[in-house]
Amino acid sequence: MGAVESAAKTCQVSEVLIIGAGPAGLAAAMQLERYGIKPLVFERDEIGGLLRNANLVENYPGFPGGIAGPKLLRLFARQARQVGISVIPEAVTSLDWDGAAFRAETPSGVYNARVAVIAAGTKPKALTGLDFPPELSDRIGYEVFPLLGIHGQQVIIIGAGDAAFDYALNLSRRNKVIILNRGDQVHCLPLLRERARICTRIHYRPNTAITRLVGLPEGGMTVECLSPAGAAVIEADYLLGAIGRDPQLDFVSAALLEQSAELESRGILHFVGDVKNGLYRQTAIAVGDGLLAAMKIYQLLKEDAQ
Ligand SMILES: Cc1cc2nc3c(=O)[nH]c(=O)nc-3n(C[C@H](O)[C@H](O)[C@H](O)COP(=O)(O)OP(=O)(O)OC[C@H]3O[C@@H](n4cnc5c(N)ncnc54)[C@H](O)[C@@H]3O)c2cc1C
Repeated sequence: MGAVESAAKTCQVSEVLIIGAGPAGLAAAMQLERYGIKPLVFERDEIGGLLRNANLVENYPGFPGGIAGPKLLRLFARQARQVGISVIPEAVTSLDWDGAAFRAETPSGVYNARVAVIAAGTKPKALTGLDFPPELSDRIGYEVFPLLGIHGQQVIIIGAGDAAFDYALNLSRRNKVIILNRGDQVHCLPLLRERARICTRIHYRPNTAITRLVGLPEGGMTVECLSPAGAAVIEADYLLGAIGRDPQLDFVSAALLEQSAELESRGILHFVGDVKNGLYRQTAIAVGDGLLAAMKIYQLLKEDAQ
């Protein structure tokens, strides 16, 4: 790995760069370290990724009874540090391919590498069709972790899938939660639905669509809704959207995306984890993807060196 200071930005060269230090990116980085390959790992936020939103992870082997997402995240981060992975705490703002190498740019540096691993996960689908009063900007969001410290509040969650019910169970320990579903179908695991059903602090309202949000001078909001029973107004302190997620690929150039199939077939570009798994977004799958990519990268670099 080498470093060249340019007038504007530092330029570093490495064999492998990994974008995202969630479960997929960390698993890839840890396996590469085992082969003696030092990847450049970028994380724009907190190491561990989306796990910080997970209430209770019950399907990751090794944790009978389950483990809270933030706790599992801390274990991943600790293990990564122990094996010597240092993460560059910056967002990759662009990723390109120049015909010979990948070029990642961050606000303070430029990084070139022969192999790129995109482990950037997903971004929430935005709530649309509503006007969001600017004064509510810190009360409306998509992630549960910023609200983990609140108590005695009323939170509205919009959605009908695993994330909506997981968020509700998480926040209901110390708050009242109302889940609004504009349809009548629930798309979450039956066990999450059942836990929410028996929780007295969670109310689920199907066929209920929000028509208007109004900020209150003392904080919080009124939420105007429409259901077959008619119009209703609910007061809430916070509102969370949990209506699905899309792959996080905004930083990848259009030209690179166009060539991605060919670069993947050459083994120099890898998409790992939630960013490519569609509906099948789970920690163990992301970890497996990261490991597999690292093993393939090692084989490629070994063959090239022979
Ligand atoms: C509410 C909830 C509950 C869940 N419960 C479970 C469960 O019980 N069991 C289970 O197995 N899974 C669960 N999951 C899913 C699990 O969290 C994901 O499958 C897993 O985190 C995916 O890992 P990943 O590394 O692919 O992506 P992510 O965890 O999303 O990590 C991607 C990382 O890339 C970073 N990144 C993105 N773009 C850039 C960029 N341009 N530059 C630098 N960094 C970037 C992000 O900040 C993020 O840290 C849950 C998820 C949610 C939301």
